[in-house]
Amino acid sequence: MALTELTGNLHMHTPYSDGEWHHADIAEAALRAGLDFIIVTDHNVWVDGVTPYHSSDDGKRRVLVLTGEEVHDQALQPQSNHLLVYNAGREVAALAHDPQQLLDGVNAAGGLSFLAHPFDSTAPLVDYDPIHWRRWDATGFTGIELWNYMSEFVGLVTSPAAALKYGANPELGIKGPRAETLNKWDELTAAGRRIVAIGNSDAHGATYHKFGRSAVIFPYEMLFRAVNTHVLLSNELTNNAEHDSNRIYTALREGHCFVGYDAPGPTRGFRFSAQGEKGSAIMGDEVVAGAGVTLQVSAPAKAEIQLLRNGKPVAQKLADTNLTHITSTPGAYRVEVYTVFKGERRGWIFSNPIYIR
Ligand SMILES: [Zn+2]
Ligand SMILES: [Zn+2]
Repeated sequence: MALTELTGNLHMHTPYSDGEWHHADIAEAALRAGLDFIIVTDHNVWVDGVTPYHSSDDGKRRVLVLTGEEVHDQALQPQSNHLLVYNAGREVAALAHDPQQLLDGVNAAGGLSFLAHPFDSTAPLVDYDPIHWRRWDATGFTGIELWNYMSEFVGLVTSPAAALKYGANPELGIKGPRAETLNKWDELTAAGRRIVAIGNSDAHGATYHKFGRSAVIFPYEMLFRAVNTHVLLSNELTNNAEHDSNRIYTALREGHCFVGYDAPGPTRGFRFSAQGEKGSAIMGDEVVAGAGVTLQVSAPAKAEIQLLRNGKPVAQKLADTNLTHITSTPGAYRVEVYTVFKGERRGWIFSNPIYIR
């Protein structure tokens, strides 16, 4: 089955909360960066009525602009439990005082929810309190934000020298999702839960004056060329925004997506699939173990490919575009791909799991 791949970024802010640019200008930046869709997520406000499709001047490309919301309890100190909400179709911030009530409300509205930067970075130099997810007892969330670019960047600012170095060239410091986040994800999926991972910019378009004496600038466009979520659809998009957004949300809910760091090289084209005696599966799906399942990985360029089961390595290729592994052992299987960029080994692609049952 030929799949349609859409590159998207699902976490960013406008002046409706603490971002710099409005939707139309962010859409232009997304077009220039080659994105197919974005979901704008202002803090505690769902901005409805945004023009969905924006086209490039030559009419050859377009980007779909959707709006969700990043919800948190504004009375809670220190700040915790930021939740990305998509497709709820209504304002849900009033439920934020109780994460379980919020998750239940999102589900009742047919929405999706992802724990934003669940293990955030600490940055003592800039007096920044990490905003962790603290309510792991709450259930019913769709997934987690596995990799948040701005959260990772904040963690690099450990000294004035580091602020100068990484402020001038953030890609020198960006390495991959936090180990705690990966471990927690593996713990949940090994216990039998289906947890979808996404990766985002958390773009604000802001200039960070606090980091030492350097003015650190993170334009939307630069961030849209970095950590993205690539979604796989079974059909092409139409011109109907409601229809198309439903396709995207369904694919996200199913985990038919992977996290790609597109700065070292385009991650478009990555695939992870399974063939069992009772059918085939792509990322996010379940497949019956039966007499054996063939797992197949295809990377867009030669790279280090790691296949993990419940978080433990089971197969690897050090410099290849393909990996094949046959197994009848149940578990959550996922792929990490590493590449060398700016002289160092860096996380490049993180797949969603295929669940062998
Ligand atoms: Zn947040
Ligand atoms: Zn945010």
